[in-house]
Amino acid sequence: NMAEECPPDIETLGRGSWNLLHSIAAQYPENPTRTDQNNVRDFMRLFATLYPCWVCGEGFAKYQSRKPMPTQSRNAFGTWLCDAHNEVNRRLGKPEFDCSKWEERWRTGWKDGRCD
Ligand code: FAD
Repeated sequence: NMAEECPPDIETLGRGSWNLLHSIAAQYPENPTRTDQNNVRDFMRLFATLYPCWVCGEGFAKYQSRKPMPTQSRNAFGTWLCDAHNEVNRRLGKPEFDCSKWEERWRTGWKDGRCD
Protein backbone atom coordinates (compact mmCIF):
# COMPACT_ATOMS: atom_id res chain seq x y z
CA ASN A 1 0.00 0.00 0.00
CA MET A 2 1.76 3.13 -1.31
CA ALA A 3 -0.21 5.49 0.97
CA GLU A 4 1.45 3.92 4.02
CA GLU A 5 4.82 5.03 2.68
CA CYS A 6 3.86 8.72 2.41
CA PRO A 7 3.97 11.27 5.25
CA PRO A 8 0.89 10.68 7.43
CA ASP A 9 -2.08 13.02 6.96
CA ILE A 10 -4.17 14.24 9.92
CA GLU A 11 -6.45 11.17 9.82
CA THR A 12 -3.65 8.57 9.72
CA LEU A 13 -1.73 10.41 12.40
CA GLY A 14 -4.90 10.66 14.52
CA ARG A 15 -5.73 6.95 14.26
CA GLY A 16 -2.20 5.94 15.20
CA SER A 17 -2.17 8.40 18.06
CA TRP A 18 -5.53 7.32 19.55
CA ASN A 19 -4.35 3.72 19.29
CA LEU A 20 -1.29 4.65 21.33
CA LEU A 21 -3.10 6.86 23.87
CA HIS A 22 -5.96 4.43 24.62
CA SER A 23 -3.43 1.58 24.82
CA ILE A 24 -1.42 3.55 27.38
CA ALA A 25 -4.64 3.94 29.41
CA ALA A 26 -5.30 0.20 29.05
CA GLN A 27 -1.89 -0.60 30.55
CA TYR A 28 -2.05 2.08 33.24
CA PRO A 29 -2.03 0.52 36.75
CA GLU A 30 -5.28 0.17 38.68
CA ASN A 31 -3.40 1.48 41.71
CA PRO A 32 -0.75 3.84 40.34
CA THR A 33 2.18 5.12 42.38
CA ARG A 34 2.99 8.82 42.70
CA THR A 35 5.63 8.31 39.99
CA ASP A 36 3.15 6.60 37.64
CA GLN A 37 0.79 9.53 38.11
CA ASN A 38 3.45 12.17 37.50
CA ASN A 39 4.72 10.33 34.43
CA VAL A 40 1.33 10.05 32.74
CA ARG A 41 0.48 13.68 33.48
CA ASP A 42 3.83 14.88 32.09
CA PHE A 43 3.42 12.63 29.06
CA MET A 44 -0.05 13.96 28.16
CA ARG A 45 1.06 17.56 28.56
CA LEU A 46 4.14 17.07 26.37
CA PHE A 47 2.17 14.98 23.89
CA ALA A 48 -0.23 17.91 23.38
CA THR A 49 2.71 20.32 23.06
CA LEU A 50 4.57 18.22 20.49
CA TYR A 51 1.60 16.79 18.56
CA PRO A 52 2.41 17.34 14.89
CA CYS A 53 -0.99 18.85 14.04
CA TRP A 54 -0.92 22.20 15.74
CA VAL A 55 -4.68 22.85 16.08
CA CYS A 56 -5.20 19.28 17.31
CA GLY A 57 -2.53 19.59 20.00
CA GLU A 58 -3.88 22.95 21.09
CA GLY A 59 -7.39 21.49 21.40
CA PHE A 60 -6.04 18.67 23.56
CA ALA A 61 -4.05 21.11 25.73
CA LYS A 62 -7.19 23.20 26.26
CA TYR A 63 -9.15 20.09 27.22
CA GLN A 64 -6.46 19.29 29.81
CA SER A 65 -6.78 22.77 31.33
CA ARG A 66 -10.57 22.65 31.32
CA LYS A 67 -10.90 19.08 32.63
CA PRO A 68 -7.93 18.27 34.86
CA MET A 69 -6.71 14.78 34.21
CA PRO A 70 -7.49 12.23 36.93
CA THR A 71 -4.55 9.90 37.50
CA GLN A 72 -5.61 8.00 40.63
CA SER A 73 -6.89 4.92 38.76
CA ARG A 74 -6.91 3.27 35.35
CA ASN A 75 -10.64 3.70 34.95
CA ALA A 76 -10.64 7.37 35.89
CA PHE A 77 -7.83 8.11 33.45
CA GLY A 78 -9.24 5.92 30.65
CA THR A 79 -12.68 7.51 30.93
CA TRP A 80 -11.19 11.02 30.87
CA LEU A 81 -9.27 10.09 27.72
CA CYS A 82 -12.42 8.63 26.13
CA ASP A 83 -14.21 11.93 26.88
CA ALA A 84 -11.33 13.83 25.25
CA HIS A 85 -11.67 11.67 22.13
CA ASN A 86 -15.46 12.19 22.12
CA GLU A 87 -14.95 15.92 22.20
CA VAL A 88 -12.92 15.64 18.98
CA ASN A 89 -15.52 13.25 17.52
CA ARG A 90 -18.24 15.84 18.13
CA ARG A 91 -16.17 18.59 16.56
CA LEU A 92 -15.60 16.45 13.46
CA GLY A 93 -19.21 15.20 13.27
CA LYS A 94 -18.20 11.61 14.06
CA PRO A 95 -20.36 9.34 16.25
CA GLU A 96 -19.73 9.46 19.99
CA PHE A 97 -18.29 6.42 21.70
CA ASP A 98 -19.94 4.92 24.81
CA CYS A 99 -17.23 5.49 27.42
CA SER A 100 -18.58 2.77 29.72
CA LYS A 101 -17.12 0.42 27.05
CA TRP A 102 -13.61 1.88 26.73
CA GLU A 103 -11.95 -1.09 28.45
CA GLU A 104 -13.73 -3.60 26.20
CA ARG A 105 -12.51 -1.72 23.14
CA TRP A 106 -8.96 -1.11 24.36
CA ARG A 107 -8.06 -3.67 27.05
CA THR A 108 -10.16 -6.79 27.48
CA GLY A 109 -11.74 -7.20 24.05
CA TRP A 110 -15.51 -7.20 23.43
CA LYS A 111 -17.61 -9.42 25.68
CA ASP A 112 -19.18 -11.06 22.60
CA GLY A 113 -15.80 -12.56 21.67
CA ARG A 114 -15.19 -10.40 18.58
CA CYS A 115 -11.48 -10.07 19.41
CA ASP A 116 -10.81 -13.74 20.25
P1 FAD B 1 -10.42 7.81 15.27
O1 FAD B 1 -11.16 8.98 15.81
O2 FAD B 1 -8.96 7.98 15.00
O3 FAD B 1 -10.63 6.61 16.30
C1 FAD B 1 -9.96 5.36 16.20
C2 FAD B 1 -10.81 4.31 16.87
O4 FAD B 1 -10.98 4.63 18.24
C3 FAD B 1 -12.24 4.22 16.34
O5 FAD B 1 -12.32 3.41 15.23
C4 FAD B 1 -13.01 3.65 17.53
O6 FAD B 1 -12.93 2.24 17.56
C5 FAD B 1 -12.26 4.17 18.72
N1 FAD B 1 -12.91 5.31 19.36
C6 FAD B 1 -13.65 6.30 18.78
N2 FAD B 1 -14.03 7.20 19.69
C7 FAD B 1 -13.52 6.78 20.87
C8 FAD B 1 -13.57 7.30 22.20
N3 FAD B 1 -14.24 8.44 22.49
N4 FAD B 1 -12.94 6.62 23.17
C9 FAD B 1 -12.28 5.47 22.91
N5 FAD B 1 -12.19 4.93 21.68
C10 FAD B 1 -12.81 5.59 20.67
N6 FAD B 1 -8.53 15.75 13.65
C11 FAD B 1 -9.01 16.92 13.17
O7 FAD B 1 -9.38 16.98 12.00
N7 FAD B 1 -9.10 18.03 13.97
C12 FAD B 1 -8.71 18.02 15.27
O8 FAD B 1 -8.78 19.04 15.96
C13 FAD B 1 -8.16 16.80 15.80
N8 FAD B 1 -7.71 16.75 17.08
C14 FAD B 1 -7.10 15.60 17.52
C15 FAD B 1 -6.57 15.57 18.80
C16 FAD B 1 -5.89 14.45 19.25
C17 FAD B 1 -5.27 14.45 20.63
C18 FAD B 1 -5.76 13.32 18.41
C19 FAD B 1 -5.01 12.09 18.90
C20 FAD B 1 -6.32 13.33 17.14
C21 FAD B 1 -7.01 14.45 16.69
N9 FAD B 1 -7.57 14.50 15.41
C22 FAD B 1 -8.10 15.67 14.94
C23 FAD B 1 -7.67 13.27 14.57
C24 FAD B 1 -9.09 12.63 14.72
O9 FAD B 1 -9.46 12.51 16.08
C25 FAD B 1 -9.15 11.21 14.11
O10 FAD B 1 -8.09 10.42 14.63
C26 FAD B 1 -9.11 11.16 12.58
O11 FAD B 1 -10.11 12.00 12.06
C27 FAD B 1 -9.32 9.71 12.08
O12 FAD B 1 -10.60 9.29 12.55
P2 FAD B 1 -11.15 7.82 12.47
O13 FAD B 1 -12.59 7.94 12.09
O14 FAD B 1 -10.28 6.93 11.67
O15 FAD B 1 -11.16 7.25 14.01
